[in-house]
Amino acid sequence: MNPIRVTVWNEYMHERTEPHIAAVYPDGIHGCIAAFLREAGYEVKTATQPEPEHGLTQEVLDNTDVLIWWGHMAHGDVDDAIVKRVYDRVMAGMGIIVLHSGHASKIMEKLMGTNSGELKWRENGDKEILWSVAPNHPIMRGVPEKVIIDHEEMYGEFFNVPDPDELVFVSWFEGGFVFRSGMCYKRGLGKLFYFRPGHESFPTYFQKEVQQIIINAVAWAAPQGILKIASGHTPDDAT
Ligand code: ZN
Repeated sequence: MNPIRVTVWNEYMHERTEPHIAAVYPDGIHGCIAAFLREAGYEVKTATQPEPEHGLTQEVLDNTDVLIWWGHMAHGDVDDAIVKRVYDRVMAGMGIIVLHSGHASKIMEKLMGTNSGELKWRENGDKEILWSVAPNHPIMRGVPEKVIIDHEEMYGEFFNVPDPDELVFVSWFEGGFVFRSGMCYKRGLGKLFYFRPGHESFPTYFQKEVQQIIINAVAWAAPQGILKIASGHTPDDAT
């Protein structure tokens, strides 16, 4: 069987403009994520916002089974035509994993149909505990029920998204507040997993349990069948 084809997309702004972020992710957040996904056996490419067409040409998307999206400070600069292209590919069956501050991205808002940028936040380096509320979910394979992240940005409810099809994680933060940190949605023929951890100034994506969750989410989100469905006026199929 062919390996699952993953494209890791990063806005790639913090790492190029802020030395203390570059020190955490010297190869970029996309470089870190791509490395552990490759190690897991996936066929992985990266794409970034400054590239022509944000690195997401039709050809790239046509050859992507699962797209990973990390963005934060430049959501508004993402071309609407590229957002539509990603959206159409999700409708046709591509998986998408939206990470952390991608909650406020154009593609997330389009796929949610709500102002998903709305939530509480606090950048204090709180301890976070990711509690699984779906211990037998495919995304939990090899992951402990309780994952402690020593320092993270707090995100708090209410998070303005529709009720998920499946809720996998709820986060507790030491300074208060809870958050639905792992949520699964079906959109068209595609699947979306929103996963909260991953603020740019903390080394969250180097943590093994976090990596395992993303590795599992790729397998869960990957299309299982046909990605090109004929529609419209159709002649009689009888022979
Ligand atoms: Zn953040």
